[in-house]
Amino acid sequence: MTVGSTVFGSGPPLLIAGPCSVEGLDMMLACARAAREAGAAMLRGGAFKPRTSPHSFQGLGVEGLRILSEVRAETGLPVVSEVLAVDQIETVLRHVDMVQVGARNMHNFPLLTELGRAGVPVLLKRGFMATVEEWILAAEYITHECNEDVVLCERGIRTFEHWTRNTFDVSAIPLARMKTGHPVIGDPCHAAGRRDLVAPLALAAIAAGADGVMLEIHPDPLRARSDGDQSLGFEEFAELARRLKAAASARA
Ligand code: PEP
Ligand code: MN
Repeated sequence: MTVGSTVFGSGPPLLIAGPCSVEGLDMMLACARAAREAGAAMLRGGAFKPRTSPHSFQGLGVEGLRILSEVRAETGLPVVSEVLAVDQIETVLRHVDMVQVGARNMHNFPLLTELGRAGVPVLLKRGFMATVEEWILAAEYITHECNEDVVLCERGIRTFEHWTRNTFDVSAIPLARMKTGHPVIGDPCHAAGRRDLVAPLALAAIAAGADGVMLEIHPDPLRARSDGDQSLGFEEFAELARRLKAAASARA
């Protein structure tokens, strides 16, 4: 399937990179340039953030979307960003090429149905309490409305392990690919919740046949307004991008 000129699911695995949250124009431009230089096919950045606590930074909202549009025009990179609610769809669609449904919203069936009707490419994250079957059924809410443009994203599930934020379910990647035929990508950052595990999990996703990997990056991860602990600095990111490319050619 294609998002603009970006092709998912055939050819080499794709890299999607960007900050957890859009924090401002300068940092977003810096992330986009780092992403492009590392060979990323797409830029990510949350404007509406589904935070566990209402006291945490909730994202810049529409201002964040405007920044994404500006950065897209400047760098030519297609953009994916999250939509939290049905009443945001129209606004979000004015600024992005692909819409992300986050883990916390995977069971939001009215949202999935509306995105199906909107006919927009959807990046559907696996809920952290969802079985692979439930995740696939969530995707079917979108395809049921004749929208086949769904990319699935494994981002870790909740287990008894507490040294990682979630447990990266590598088996879900080939399983979901076999069962659906949709492209499946891995998100090692939200799975690990810690920077030092991002590279091995990203490489595991590629080895397991993922159609891409999504990485959180930040010009200064220690100062990120969300998910700094799991975000890569630009140098570390560039190095991992090189290793992922090598792993992808070894797989081919
Ligand atoms: C994100 O991509 O920043 C995000 C909130 O992810 P998830 O929905 O997987 O927690
Ligand atoms: Mn995040």
